[in-house]
Amino acid sequence: MSEAQDKGAAGSKTKSASSGKKKSRHDFVDGDRYAPAPESSEHVVVKDSYDLFIGGDWIRAPKRTETRNPATGEVLSEVGEAGPGMVKKAVAAARKAYEETWSTMPGRERGKYLYRLARLIQERAREFAVLETMDGGKPIRESRDVDLPLVAAHFFYYAGWADKLDYAFPGRTAHSIGVIGQVIPWNFPLLMAAWKLAPALACGNTVVLKPAETTPLTALKLAELIEEAGFPPGVVNVVTGGGKTGRHLVRHPDVDKVAFTGSTEVGKMIQRDLAGTGRRYTLELGGKAANIIFDDATVNQAVEGIVNGIFFNQGHVCCAGSRLFVQEGIADTVVRKLKRRMDNLVLGDPLDKNTDVGAINSQEQLDRIKVLVDSGSEEGAKCWQSGQKLPRKGFWFKPTIFTECAQSHQIVQKEIFGPVLAIQTFRTPEEAVEKANNTPYGLSGGVWTDKGSKIFKITSQIRAGVLWANTFNKFDPASPFGGYKESGVGREGGLQGLAPYLDLR
Ligand code: NAP
Ligand code: MG
Repeated sequence: MSEAQDKGAAGSKTKSASSGKKKSRHDFVDGDRYAPAPESSEHVVVKDSYDLFIGGDWIRAPKRTETRNPATGEVLSEVGEAGPGMVKKAVAAARKAYEETWSTMPGRERGKYLYRLARLIQERAREFAVLETMDGGKPIRESRDVDLPLVAAHFFYYAGWADKLDYAFPGRTAHSIGVIGQVIPWNFPLLMAAWKLAPALACGNTVVLKPAETTPLTALKLAELIEEAGFPPGVVNVVTGGGKTGRHLVRHPDVDKVAFTGSTEVGKMIQRDLAGTGRRYTLELGGKAANIIFDDATVNQAVEGIVNGIFFNQGHVCCAGSRLFVQEGIADTVVRKLKRRMDNLVLGDPLDKNTDVGAINSQEQLDRIKVLVDSGSEEGAKCWQSGQKLPRKGFWFKPTIFTECAQSHQIVQKEIFGPVLAIQTFRTPEEAVEKANNTPYGLSGGVWTDKGSKIFKITSQIRAGVLWANTFNKFDPASPFGGYKESGVGREGGLQGLAPYLDLR
């Protein structure tokens, strides 16, 4: 156990992640076609209990809440639930650190801390990936190969800007803002923390971060790493708890800016909370991305892209390609190939390296998916589910498609945030664009065609912040991400992601 972990243990026992009853491979009935290849969790230390990270100390909140592994239902740990007093303490610690150290420190010095943190994340990537999978239920292949490399890349990228802020915005002087309150969701817990923390800190701001209630562990482990990297106390504070804790943070008058990623519903509540206060905010909200396949596309490649866009990571992706528009002439072929591919997906133990589809994050999310899927059949769409058997314990949902959908169906209009795809056909490019834009969201989308000119034409007509062509769900820290319409306000990533954390004069 590292010194930092030792210090933060607050008298709690530690245990290996794999302690307790050994899992038999029959707890996960699918994946039987491949020999099991589980990633070891022996090296991951999960404490029985975690405190709040405030002002460089670990402070015990009187109220506690449990976090579970959604693939097994097993309790992993308990964390503190920060009430208004603890949130106030965290904001005060962030203000002190802002005024006394972080905002007055030269940018090159701030950059050194961020580089150090990025390197530590790389060194400990495997441990973080396993913990992310255990706490959230996503396949280890995703957390190991997508989340963790992007987390480190974000810190490296923004570390590089820390001493170049005046060059980033020529002709203007860049000033930090102050204390930032950041609230993040459960689908990419560590990556969302990185998207928020890296630019805020590079710009000289200090932070109070609130992770989601069901996935607090990697943010707390990141706090341990921040401590290990020697950041001045109070520069980053982590307060755990549910929506109420988030609300206390958003409403705190000494928070200069709120950065939120989550549902459109809560985003609107935050806008109402902040209206008239003059305090800033950026919001990354929900989506209902359209994947459009033209009849000149390479069908096998497109099918793989659709599967990647909605079924890997159980559709727990804000930019998931949850609506599919197929040109009429190839619709039968695409649906047939898609069903075959869906039947071959490996669903089961998220820690197994073969797994494509992991667990649904929580019972609450599973219930939400079921209600919307039921509405699809009730409203007249045709449902088809893949043939995997679901594990007996934990929260699971089969990859599901709907054909014969109408634009008015709830499964076409509402964000499901699960492995559920609504398929419609179109005849002309104009019809595809009109249908794709017929949504209150505008986060992302995809176009599949052999013709470059068609890519430019269609993507310029789709009202969404991110569009991929002949690929899907590709990210880079240097490229901005964010939504149109009800998908959000502001951008994260790239230069555009720096600006909201600066006062440019
Ligand atoms: P959510 O319910 O809106 O929660 C997001 C975060 O806000 C959680 O930490 C939550 O706490 C907290 N929260 C809840 N009520 C709050 C309030 N009144 N004031 C302040 N904070 C509050 O969203 P979710 O279900 O966790 O995440 C899924 C959503 O996130 C989807 O809609 C998805 O599209 C969106 N998302 C968007 C992006 C993007 O970049 N656009 C990226 C990822 C996810 P608790 O969870 O602890 O209750
Ligand atoms: Mg959990």
